[in-house]
Amino acid sequence: MKKTIFKNIVTITAVSIIITGFLSGFFITNQLTKNTKQTVQKEAHTLANILNHDINYLNQELVIDTRITLIEKNGTVIYDTLKTSSENHLDRPEIVSAINNGQGESMRYSDTLKEKMYYYAIQLDNDSILRLAMQTSSLVKIMPIIIIYTSIIIICVIIIAAFIAKKAASNIVQPINNINLNNPSTDNIYPELQPLIANLQLHNKLRKEFSANVSHELKTPLTSISGYAEIMTNGIAKPEDNKIFASKIYQASQNLIQKINDIIKISKLDENQISLEIETINYHDLITNCLEKLDKFILDKSIHIVYTPKNIYGDCIKYVMEDILYNLIQNAIKYNKQNGTVFIYLSQINDNIIIKIKDTGIGIDDSDIERIYERFYRADTSHSSNIEGSGLGLAIVKHGINLHQGTIKCKSKINQETTFTITLPTHLKS
Ligand code: ADP
Repeated sequence: MKKTIFKNIVTITAVSIIITGFLSGFFITNQLTKNTKQTVQKEAHTLANILNHDINYLNQELVIDTRITLIEKNGTVIYDTLKTSSENHLDRPEIVSAINNGQGESMRYSDTLKEKMYYYAIQLDNDSILRLAMQTSSLVKIMPIIIIYTSIIIICVIIIAAFIAKKAASNIVQPINNINLNNPSTDNIYPELQPLIANLQLHNKLRKEFSANVSHELKTPLTSISGYAEIMTNGIAKPEDNKIFASKIYQASQNLIQKINDIIKISKLDENQISLEIETINYHDLITNCLEKLDKFILDKSIHIVYTPKNIYGDCIKYVMEDILYNLIQNAIKYNKQNGTVFIYLSQINDNIIIKIKDTGIGIDDSDIERIYERFYRADTSHSSNIEGSGLGLAIVKHGINLHQGTIKCKSKINQETTFTITLPTHLKS
């Protein structure tokens, strides 16, 4: 964290300094050039005035930074403070402009002085041309100065940033380290961390509810087992009733095993502790396997199964998909009426596999439909009908469907029918 804060401070400051350096260089150069132009023009006009009255003024020793050149109308140089150039000046743009318009200017690199120069020329009353020139500041020229100062400032910033980062890191981290994970509170915490605290609070609430529900769900069958076993141990039951009690103990223990298995499954799904091996399977095989496993339930309730076999292939995590279909078909049987019907429709539309499981059972109230996928949620109808269950089946189904990037919908008419429709992509994106 200290490293990140340090890196951020140094990067932001270095980038700001570099940008500021270059922009200042650019604006300063512009301003200096503007100043140079104004100075040269002012000096040129003053000198032109003097020369119009006294053309010999240039013969005296002049102390001036500006290069002065006097050129005849035919381009011959008659005077130059540098006394270096004697070539004809008629090709210079400022001279041409001065001959045509009375004055002219130009900015260019001077071969004589090896500098970028500003030239300003004025036509005198005797038609000769007075030209003044001065070197200008260029960005390239002041760049080394900018780089030196920028580097010094960056080194200072790195040293200061190291101190600030150390202090800032411990200040930022302290409230986070102080969060009590078992009882997170929003007091003295950054507003940005409020969603995290809300998540932790929800997580804790769900964890507590889950533990309470698990204890409650396991207690019920265990109490039955213990009660029947006690009666048998004390010899209160008639010997002919022992078989009935033993069978009740067996049923309760089966129920207990089922609940424990469901709890283990949902915990594994929660902790992503499951293998996500994807294979291409025939959905028809999965459905027939489930029906075979549920054969006893189907016979006990004399349920009619309506299913037209179809070979439809798709990608899935096989044992998760088996669980999904088993839970949905088992519910369609469990919550059905005696002699009821379960319809299973398997189809493929474009890139989606659609499976509908419809039953003619007790139905689900509209107010319950939204909640049936919650853990341990059981609609009142199932309680009042004394149907065994953990309330975890549809939570496992929903989790499994999400893993398969699919959707599940439920439609129901109380006491008439319930249809679960699942839509799954044929090919899974890994
Ligand atoms: P369980 O069946 O173990 O109670 P589930 O999670 O599978 O748990 O289902 C949650 C609740 O949804 C059930 O208790 C029941 O009230 C309702 N339910 C699920 N499927 C059906 C169905 N096909 N018909 C009527 N009610 C259903």
